[in-house]
Amino acid sequence: MTIQTETLGYPRIGKKREVKKALEAFWGGKSDEETLLQILREVETSNWKTQLEAGIDRIGIGDGSLYDLVLDWSVRLGIIPDRFRHLSGIDRYFAMARGKDGIPALEMTKWFDTNYHYLVPELDGTLHTQDFSDFLATVERAQTVLGDRAVPIVLGPLTLLRLSRVDLGFDDAVGQLRDRYVTLLEELKNAGVSEVQIHEPALVFGDAETFKTATASTYAAFAAVGLPIHLVTYFDDLGTTYSWVTQLPVSAISLDFTRGRNLDWLKQHGFPADKRLGVGIVDARNIWKLRLETTLSTLETIQSVTSNFSLHPSASLQFVPYDAALEKELPEPLRNVLSFAEQKLDEVALLARSLAEDDARHRHLNDSQKLWAIFEEFNPINSGVWEQLNSLTESDFQRSPSYSLRLSKQVQLPPLPTTTIGSFPQTQEVRQLRVKYKRGELSETEYRAAIDAQIAECIKIQEAIGLDVLVHGEFERTDMVEYFGQQLEGFAFTVHGWVQSYGSRCVRPPIIYGDVSRPHPMTVREYKVAQSLTEKPMKGMLTGPVTIINWSFPRADISRRDQAFQIALALREEVADLEAAGAQIVQVDEPALREGLPLKTERWSEYLTWAVDAFRLSTAIARPQTQVHTHMCYSEFGDIIRDIENLDADVISIENSRSNNRTLKEVTEAGYSHQIGNGVYDVHSPIVPPTEQVVQQLKSGIANLPTEQIWVNPDCGLKTRHWEEVIPALKNMVEATRILRQELSSETDSPSQDS
Ligand code: GLN
Ligand code: ZN
Repeated sequence: MTIQTETLGYPRIGKKREVKKALEAFWGGKSDEETLLQILREVETSNWKTQLEAGIDRIGIGDGSLYDLVLDWSVRLGIIPDRFRHLSGIDRYFAMARGKDGIPALEMTKWFDTNYHYLVPELDGTLHTQDFSDFLATVERAQTVLGDRAVPIVLGPLTLLRLSRVDLGFDDAVGQLRDRYVTLLEELKNAGVSEVQIHEPALVFGDAETFKTATASTYAAFAAVGLPIHLVTYFDDLGTTYSWVTQLPVSAISLDFTRGRNLDWLKQHGFPADKRLGVGIVDARNIWKLRLETTLSTLETIQSVTSNFSLHPSASLQFVPYDAALEKELPEPLRNVLSFAEQKLDEVALLARSLAEDDARHRHLNDSQKLWAIFEEFNPINSGVWEQLNSLTESDFQRSPSYSLRLSKQVQLPPLPTTTIGSFPQTQEVRQLRVKYKRGELSETEYRAAIDAQIAECIKIQEAIGLDVLVHGEFERTDMVEYFGQQLEGFAFTVHGWVQSYGSRCVRPPIIYGDVSRPHPMTVREYKVAQSLTEKPMKGMLTGPVTIINWSFPRADISRRDQAFQIALALREEVADLEAAGAQIVQVDEPALREGLPLKTERWSEYLTWAVDAFRLSTAIARPQTQVHTHMCYSEFGDIIRDIENLDADVISIENSRSNNRTLKEVTEAGYSHQIGNGVYDVHSPIVPPTEQVVQQLKSGIANLPTEQIWVNPDCGLKTRHWEEVIPALKNMVEATRILRQELSSETDSPSQDS
């Protein structure tokens, strides 16, 4: 018996981030379009060869992109909003991605529950002309390298629409797109491809039932073309849609067996004998090698239901870096249990062999057990941490007294207190400092002195502007998660482990590999330096446990909850140390709390329960006198407002400037009782907000909530801005606050009308 192997996509940025570099050179006017496309093609070809050499039978192709795959399909299908139609070619493409001459770009948002961002298609009426020529050219090139193994990857219409902004009705939009897809399928058939992958991850959304009819009619039309279709789903299980999705007229269906409950559905409902089941079994969202024993036993269960199946990673491998073998600086026992894209290809092949031959199976099982045993010896359990975790009681999660009773004990500030979110501009000079320190060109003493000088300057500026609550500026931090990870036990960092975040932007997520503990204070020195320079209250500044987990590659051997709690215990010690050093205010940022929400709403409460608990565990140690702040850089939390309130932070600052106070309204209507800083201007734009605009923004805020509850701040950290933008913007913010305070005090001074 031989078992077929497949892939569903590969990292696109190049092993040495060639595409990123080529994009930046092109945008900077240092290279031309042909050079850029040439580099993209070289990266693609090298990806194909890697997959071919790994022995993959059906290789997904056509997922290379200059910016974003969803954008690519929008353009090919003619989903081009009017404002871009006077442009063409690569010019139009990048205008849609990044904006041009005042024409706003498409909106960017997270791709499902990943950290990859896509550009939101806008269907605002008629479609523009379709053009699949670039895709067909790629298919042809792939066929010359891979022959019959080349399987084009197409983003499916239901998913595309589910993620779009659609002005016309959903069904009309499906109808409009269907014919275009049919044309594409016909052209692919003429090109001689043996099969096409149509990716429809939207079928795992909780609301997928609502597009059942549209899906059925669409795939009936596709089937009529006569090209075998491999329908691909991932990121969660099919849930209630399992029974009808598996009946669609396609030749193969892929399911994710690394997340959700597909195995249960498979056992319960079986699988149609006339279709190939694509088994997504190698986790494309995390970087750990398989625990072969467990994986093989899952595969045996699957085998007992159907013998017609193939093996592949659970999704595109774009969510993991290229090659763990490059990480020479990591300890070998750890490196040997890491699996990036190249290792995952080997794992897929190894699983196929293990199922087919007993000898191979024994050998691989043995190897796997050995590697994990060596790792476990290298990374022993920290029993102290587990004892702490196991002895937690309710009071460890509970601040006391309650918000309304501790309020009067906390720092006294003028009405509408002004503050910032934490970071100030990370200038070239600041980044240079960190680079020099890392290279050993600056001693620790010299480096610290230089950072302290930045802090001092930043405080002087904040005082001159007249802010009420100050921050130290976060000059010592490259990144809000990395900074903490590097100081905690249990985290590892890669050198080459880049994954695409959006466009040319890549991130290197930390790897949580062991029990987390805090060997020493992480922020207290900078806090003390800063507080010693001003009479104004200085915020202690931490990143919250949920954000740290969500922006890292977590362990796969213990739950995310337990990992979040371990981090929370470390942060808790930090909160206590900051208090002991004199901090009256501690901010614990949770910008990534919302994005961790599961794709199916029925699983929200499980996630929110531990996420909220982890935050509370970090902060409940604070004395009543200490004001706890949190920050989230989004505003859509109408649906989780109770959970946000449950964090029991005294003050929350949110992104609100782009939502026209809609959030604030939702917050008021929900009866939110704690203090809230609704970002009064957008830090993502270089525009300095005029005082009058901030006044208006604040006024509508006050109309919605009692003044006592309102803080005044920008909507996120100022790290990516320039000082020339930041200073005038904050001055206007403070001036607007002064105007409002004056209006408020004259209102209270004047006799009330009834008396
Ligand atoms: N304190 C952080 C900063 O100001 C918060 C960043 C964020 O919300 N992403 O940079
Ligand atoms: Zn933010």
